[in-house]
Amino acid sequence: MMTKQAERASKLPLFGGSAAYVRSWANFWQAWWARTAGVAAIDSTRLDRFATLVRFAREHSPLYCEMYRDVPSNVSAPHALPVVTKHALMARFDDWVTDTAIRRTNIDAFLADRTHIGDRYLGRYIVWKSSGSTGEPGIFVQDDDALAVYDALIAMQLAGANLAGKCAAGLFKGGRAALIAATGDHFASIASWKRVCWSGPGLAARGFSIMEPLDRLIAKINAFAPVYLASYPTMLTLLAEERVAGRLRVAPAIVWSGGEFLAPGACAELEQAFDCPVLNEYGASECMSIAFGCREGWLHVNADWVMLEPVDANYRPTPLGQISHTVLLTNLANRIQPVIRYDLGDAVVANPEPCGCGNPLPAIRVEGRREDVVTMSASDGRQIRLLPMALTTIVEEAADVHRFQIVQSHDTTLMLRLDIAGVERKQVAFRAAAHALRDYLAGQGVTHPHVSLDERLPIPDRRSGKLREVIIELGAEASDDPDVTPQSPSRSPRSGPAPNRLDTRTRDRGLHDGH
Ligand SMILES: [Zn+2]
Repeated sequence: MMTKQAERASKLPLFGGSAAYVRSWANFWQAWWARTAGVAAIDSTRLDRFATLVRFAREHSPLYCEMYRDVPSNVSAPHALPVVTKHALMARFDDWVTDTAIRRTNIDAFLADRTHIGDRYLGRYIVWKSSGSTGEPGIFVQDDDALAVYDALIAMQLAGANLAGKCAAGLFKGGRAALIAATGDHFASIASWKRVCWSGPGLAARGFSIMEPLDRLIAKINAFAPVYLASYPTMLTLLAEERVAGRLRVAPAIVWSGGEFLAPGACAELEQAFDCPVLNEYGASECMSIAFGCREGWLHVNADWVMLEPVDANYRPTPLGQISHTVLLTNLANRIQPVIRYDLGDAVVANPEPCGCGNPLPAIRVEGRREDVVTMSASDGRQIRLLPMALTTIVEEAADVHRFQIVQSHDTTLMLRLDIAGVERKQVAFRAAAHALRDYLAGQGVTHPHVSLDERLPIPDRRSGKLREVIIELGAEASDDPDVTPQSPSRSPRSGPAPNRLDTRTRDRGLHDGH
């Protein structure tokens, strides 16, 4: 029997067809009980699921069976297991998956056909790929059980934020949900979005392409009038500006941010601009819902379904409060393609203190991709690591700019690309940012840094289409000719070089619709 509440929830974009929503709802309550019961319950739930997943992987994935052959049969702690990489897993794709019907050759053919976007592979799996901005693309297969868990985790987040009612009310009263993301390929965002649209008859949900010139995009969103708006932080920042300027005339009940790191300051600005709560999600193609933002600016890990281990370059645990080299992800929800101690590549810091928001789930901050951590030589020869978030915060605050790019072009040289209209304003902003950066670097021991202005607009990542705010391009030269920029002065969002691959989650992060 469907309760009234579940019935209403099934109308949300969070829940798809009937079987899926039943599963989601069951997962929701399971997660709710575990979390209400506190840290011990969460830990024990996670460890139980971990042991079950490892056992399942050993039995059904030839690759894991091989990798774990010297590992004792009863594993309760992750440390006993080897670390896996995307490269190693993708190289043995057919041995990795636990359903022998899934074959790389036919999945490649399925993905090559863009008319299949959002369709079910083999009639039962949702498939998405990551664009591989950091190397090779990944292919990720999810079954209904995994999708139901992601759905439930999102419902938990909504419930935790006391938003379910408002959001549900908006959508239930014929409200509409808009996702502005990359369209036209099998990325997590659009695959799950289509799943939602097709499984919820009567649900007004639509995807919009980030490739659309901004003025046209605004016109389309205005015409659609969504109460639920989801996109990447950089896109939302642009939209927020448009709303403040009065050109974007929407009144969303909720804004969803994912796919890129959203700084706490930027989140507050979005909330002000849209006059509604902003939900900040940290997810990946490898696991759609890893963590959710809280009002204290931390991301709380869905620790009953996700295992996240911050580690150093040798995969040894990083102490709480310190920046990790990378993080190992275990997705406890996906059995079809087990992701166990997977090197995700993000540098994170785990909160050593209980979070001020009261959420018992472990809290982290994502410091960006490890290759984005800038290393400079100090005057005394030491190698100084600079947090991308620190650099971006300095520039944001000093120059009052939210769309920009910091490029390390030489050991102690940074170039700034600022998206600021007007030569005068740009110069003023640049001088302020350069001054603040030099001060900061001097404080770190880099006494003679060089900060220059690159006249080009920020350039989105060639493969992912995403804007990475801090990048390392040693040997790159500043341009004093703004015309060389691939972006038009009208600021069409993300029209970088060959951009149209918005991969899923900061790099593989899935901006999804809140499926
Ligand atoms: Zn918190």
